[in-house]
Formats: sequence, structure tokens, C-alpha cells
Amino acid sequence: EKEPVTILITGAAGQIGYALVPMIARGIMLGQDQPVILHLLDIEPAAEALNGVKMELIDSAFPLLKGILATTDVAEACEGVDVAIMLGGFPRKDGMERKDVMSKNVAIYKAQASALGQYASPNCKVLVVANPANTNALILKEFAPSIPEKNITCLTRLDHNRALGQLAERLNVFATDVKNVIIWGNHSSTQYPDVNHATVSTCRGQKPVRQIIADKNWLDTEFIATVQQRGAAIIKARKLSSALSAASAACDHMRDWVLGTRKGTWVSMGVCSDGSYGIEPGLFYSFPVTCAKGQWSIVQGDCAPSTIFMWCMINLRNFISSSIVTMAGLKIDEFSRSKMDATEEELKLERTLARSCLNT
Ligand code: NDP
Repeated sequence: EKEPVTILITGAAGQIGYALVPMIARGIMLGQDQPVILHLLDIEPAAEALNGVKMELIDSAFPLLKGILATTDVAEACEGVDVAIMLGGFPRKDGMERKDVMSKNVAIYKAQASALGQYASPNCKVLVVANPANTNALILKEFAPSIPEKNITCLTRLDHNRALGQLAERLNVFATDVKNVIIWGNHSSTQYPDVNHATVSTCRGQKPVRQIIADKNWLDTEFIATVQQRGAAIIKARKLSSALSAASAACDHMRDWVLGTRKGTWVSMGVCSDGSYGIEPGLFYSFPVTCAKGQWSIVQGDCAPSTIFMWCMINLRNFISSSIVTMAGLKIDEFSRSKMDATEEELKLERTLARSCLNT
């Protein structure tokens, strides 16, 4: 039997946490042969509810679950963890300004970064879910310098899965028949769901989605808006934010990262930009990635002269190393470029706001 993997879940008494812990304990995240130990962290006011979750986990007698720690002590929760799923965050309440929520959350991520850096296993893989997810991940990276930057990611897989779901519904096929959509940028309403490289399986093989769906207008407007606003639509219907789909996407994200993506398939992950596609290095931005041997790599890009020039200007060293391995890649048209730039701009603004919150 394999050694257990220790998984931290922050905000574990919340609603995503409640959906996520049984999925992990059933092997949906790391595999049916992988025993796990769960470290559940929440804040003092949620301690009793957290203990309730622990009681239900005990009552489920999950065969793969080899230990449960439920605690409100950050240091204890981070001790020896191999995987950290960060759900804990301050929710936006009525009347709160964007800056107020940002200020609460960056302070939380700064403190948790220090604890992870100090107590987690040196190769711990981190997934940030709590909003603003990309910027929380950036703060975590800045305050946990001992964690390799490639080990910090944020969740855009739910948006990716929502895009697959919308296309599958429209085409009346299974979600597994559609692949290689891309979510670019921020996990917010400026994200850009891109179908230009997506394909669908047909009886005549894989065909580009744009060839099968002739209604260009639907793809360029309604489809994008539906994916961007799906979170709000769920809240309207359920009177609560999405939880089971968010938990399922977190499992997909970690499973593909650790166990690898399928050949010929990429997924979307929020990762620290290396300058690919002209996105400012250091920003946490969602890209198409493939994963192998526990490492993600950005699906490499367009070799159009203008893109090569842009890469050169932004990051000469990256340009040289990327150009060797990328002779074929994803072509970015003008429509995509403007949407990719707009979501990048929002991330730069969030970064400025986050840093100003930390300085005041
Ligand atoms: P949820 O479990 O519903 O959500 C957790 C976080 O995930 C929220 O920040 C939420 O952002 C975010 N999120 C990201 N993507 C999605 C998505 N697609 N759908 C839904 N949520 C998404 O929140 P709860 O309030 O139920 O639970 C949060 C827990 O965190 C609580 O148990 C609370 O006690 C704890 N907490 C911890 C703090 C700390 O560590 N210091 C501080 C405050 C709370 P959004 O709000 O934008 O939906």
C-alpha cells in the first residue's frame, strides 16, 4: 500500500469544503489506490461546525482515509502537508467595497503563506480557490518564498468545465466529446473562454468546434457571457454559490496536475506567468496547460513574428528557451488578443490594490 498523502483544506467547514472532503476521501482527487490524511482548518467561530465535518468523516468509514486533524491552529494544520487546497476566505458582504474584501483576504493569504512556507513539506502543491483566487495566489507566492513558484496555482478549472458543459449542451453530445477549450486570465467576469482551438468528436473524427457550430455570433457573445456569469446564475437558482461543481473542479485540477493530463488534451490552470503569450511574467494568469510527472507546462504559443517580438521585449531569456521547443502552437487572433489583454489589465489592477492593502 502507498504511503498516505497529507492534504490541507482551509475553510473546510464551508460549503465547498463539505462537498470536497468526501470526494478526496473516496480517491476522486488522487486516485483509488492513494491513502490520504486530511488536515481541516477553519477559524474559531466555525470550530464546532468543523468538528461536525470530522464526525461525519469518521462515520463514513472511508477505506482510503488514514487520519483526520480538525483544527483552528494554522501552524498545526500546515505541518507536513503535501497538498494544500485553500478554500478559506472572507466573503463579500452587502455594502463592502472591493478594497475591503481584498484587504481581508490578502491579509489571510499573507499569514497562511508564512505558515505553509514554514511547516508544509518542501514540495507541497498549492491550489487557491478562495476569491480573488489569482491575486490570493500571487500574495501567497510573495510571502512563501521557500515554496517553488511552480507549486502554486489557482482554480479556473470550474470555468473550463463550464465551457465544456455549455458546448456539450449546445451540440447535444457528452462533455467528454468536447476538449481543449481555454480559459485565459482571471477567475472573474473578465476571464476569456476561448473556443478557437476546441474540438468535438464526431463519427468523422475530431472536428473544430467552430466548424461544427456555424453560429459564430453565439460563440462570440452568448457562449462567453454564459460561462462568465454562470456563478451568478447558480447563486440565483440555489440561493447559495456553487459548491459541488467547485469541489469537483478542484479534484480535476489536482488529479491532472499530479497524475497527468490525457494525451492530446490540455486543461486550464491559473499559474505564474513566464511571459508566454505576452502575459506579464509573475502575474497569476490562467493558461492552457498539459501536466506530466507532477509538473504543468503552458501549451506553447503562436510563432507569428509579432508574438515573437513581443516575447522578446517582455522576457528575453524565456523567449530563447521557449522558441526552441515551440515550432507549432496556438494562434491568437485579434479578438482573443484584446480579451486576453483586458483580463491581464484587471489582474494588474488587483495586484496594485492588494499591495496597497498590505502597505496600509
Ligand atoms: P465557500 O465554501 O462557498 O467558498 C469558499 C471560497 O471559494 C470563497 O472565497 C469563494 O469565493 C471561493 N470560490 C471560488 N470559486 C468559486 C466558485 N466557482 N463557486 C463558489 N465559490 C468559489 O464559502 P463558505 O463561506 O461556505 O466557506 C468559507 C470558509 O472559510 C468558512 O468555513 C469560513 O469559516 C472560512 N473562513 C476562513 C477565514 C480564514 O482563513 N481566516 C476567514 C473567513 C472565513 P466567493 O465568496 O467570491 O464566492
